[in-house]
Order: sequence, then structure tokens, then C-alpha cells
Amino acid sequence: MVPVKRIVLNSRPGKNGAPVPENFRVEEGTLVPDLEDGEVMVRTLYLSVDPYMRCRMNEDTGTDYLTPWRLSECVDGGGVGVVESTRCGALNEGDVVTFFSWPWQTHAVLKGAVLQKVDPQLVDGHLSHFLGAMGITGLSAFFGIREKGHVTKDANQTMVVSGAAGACGSIAGQIGRLDGCVTVVGICGSDQKCRTLTINYNTEDVPARLRACCPGGVDVYFDNVGGTISDAVISQMNHSSHVILCGQISQYNKDVPYPPPLSEEISEVLQRKNITRERFILLSYTDKLDAGLYELSQWVKSGTDQDAFCSMMKGGNIGKQIIKISEWKN
Ligand code: NDP
Repeated sequence: MVPVKRIVLNSRPGKNGAPVPENFRVEEGTLVPDLEDGEVMVRTLYLSVDPYMRCRMNEDTGTDYLTPWRLSECVDGGGVGVVESTRCGALNEGDVVTFFSWPWQTHAVLKGAVLQKVDPQLVDGHLSHFLGAMGITGLSAFFGIREKGHVTKDANQTMVVSGAAGACGSIAGQIGRLDGCVTVVGICGSDQKCRTLTINYNTEDVPARLRACCPGGVDVYFDNVGGTISDAVISQMNHSSHVILCGQISQYNKDVPYPPPLSEEISEVLQRKNITRERFILLSYTDKLDAGLYELSQWVKSGTDQDAFCSMMKGGNIGKQIIKISEWKN
């Protein structure tokens, strides 16, 4: 018997409510590690905390690709752990694995086939990076830009990123620069988070600061937040430019479908200026994830942009929220 602690959903915050700690409950129990064929027992090392989880706290997530968490059941999300016992031919004891739907539980029995084995050397042993720069957030930034951004080297493009100090946003800005944007402007919510070329939407006039930072207009907009910030950016976008619709966090506490509807005025701007704004979901690119991870790891290893990309890999960014559950012993 293995003692386990798990986090279950205790209550829902209400469709338009902000989540509170009482929405969750810690439970203790035991796990019988009687594995069936194909199963493994994993010990949880790190769990990811992400904005989309707010939608899973509702009875209806508002999207077709996310299921709601059920009351009194263990919640789940991105996780990293180590295999402790196995009846799955493809996985050995000691293997490090990740999964999009990892239960928030100290140990768990999972089907080996759903787990992705990862190489700790790719992240120099810093396994939490598999939930950040080398995980869903890094890959979302990477594929968002590559699939929807139309960034072209030597095209003198300007990129704006909202939620810029966050997990996706901080990586998106770096990739935009690595891929060839000459100007990258970030918008975030506090002076502490603000660095060069970054706009504090809580204290500054966003449209005026955008005009100053992007005198030639905006060619690519990596949108994490939606709402009034995005309206301000879209209003200053160039003809035939591109919105990467990564997320709309400013709307997640509201009872609206995803993506939230735009005002008539902004819809008219999109149409008049022929601006693309296609929905982007990382899960649509599962067949390319390994290639994306490889490219991200090459950037880190080559050291071509140590001051930017690697500082983020070492936690220089403020963004990614991760919970450490247990120690990895190599
Ligand atoms: P972050 O690390 O960026 O954390 C969220 C940040 O958003 C906060 O720190 C806060 O920073 C900002 N924020 C919160 N509320 C508001 C608001 N009302 N208005 C403006 N900014 C706000 O999260 P992630 O990087 O994990 O996610 C960013 C976005 O990407 C989310 O919308 C998420 O849903 C989306 N996403 C989409 C994926 C896809 O496949 N399309 C995959 C993964 C994530 P500040 O101090 O600047 O306010």
C-alpha cells in the first residue's frame, strides 16, 4: 500500500466568480499498486498550474476540447513524474514521463501508453522545464508563432505580446525575436514585470504607449489575454497582419464561450484590414510536438541567444507557475 495525498474539486467558483482556495480540498488515502498489463505506477514530481484550469472549474468549460472537473474528484493537468513500478514494456523503472492529464496526486497508477517519456538531459536535469519552456507553454508559443504568426526573416516586422511576462508570453517574445521580428513589445500588469519595451496596462495608456513603441504599426500579435488590451492592439495592426489567438485570460472568469465574441468595431477592423485571427490550440499539433521540442532544446543548447532564451530557462522569467511535489533522485 502506498500512502497518497490528492487534491479534489470541493466546489465551483460560479460562472462569473474568481476562484478561491476553498474550491479545492486535500484528501489522504492509499493506493494499491496492483498493476494490470500496460500500467505503471508513477511518483509525481511537478504539477503545472495554468489559466485554462479556470474553465474546467465550471460545469461547462465553454469549449469542445476541455472537459469540466467533477466535484469531489481528483483534478488533473500537466505533470511530470518518475516511473516507480511498471508492467508496460515501453517504460522502465526510473524513466521520467509527462502527461497532459496528470492527476494532482502524490502517486498514481496510469496507462503507460498515454505517457510521454522525456530525456532529463534535454533540460540539464531541471525537470520542471518540461512543464514550462520545454512543455505545453513553450510549445504553445513555438507552434502559435510558427503556425499562425507568419513571421518572416528580414521583413522588418513588429510583434506585440500580451500577458508578456507570463509563461507563454515570455517565451513567445523570445521566439519572435529569434525568428526574425526586429521589434518585440510586451504588455503586462506590473512595474516589477515590466522591462525594456514593455507596457504596464494597469498604469499606462496602452494605445498611446503602443503608438510610441510601434511607430510602423503591429504585424504580429501574440494574444494571451483578449478584452480591452487586445482591442487596443488590434486597432493598431497593419493591413494583412496576423493575430495568434493563444488565449483570452481576461475573459475566463466570465460566462462567455471561447473564443469570446469581439465587438462590432474590432470585427470591422479585422475585416477591413484583412487581419487573420484563427483559433490556435496546441493539441492540434500533437504529431509535431517532438520536432518542436527538439528545436526548442537546440536553441537552449546552441547558446546562440543565452542572454534571452537561457535566462528564461533558468527561471529568469516571472511566468510559469509550477508546484513541486517530490524530489527527483537521478
Ligand atoms: P501566464 O503565465 O501568462 O499567467 C497568466 C497571466 O495573465 C497573469 O500572470 C497575469 O499577468 C495575466 N492576466 C491575468 N488576468 C488578466 C487580465 N484580466 N487582463 C490581462 N492580463 C491578465 O499563463 P500562461 O502563459 O500559461 O497562459 C497564457 C495564455 O495562453 C492563457 O490565456 C492560456 O489559456 C493560453 N494558452 C493557450 C494554449 C493553446 O493551446 N492555445 C496552451 C497554453 C496556454 P499580468 O501581471 O500581466 O496581468
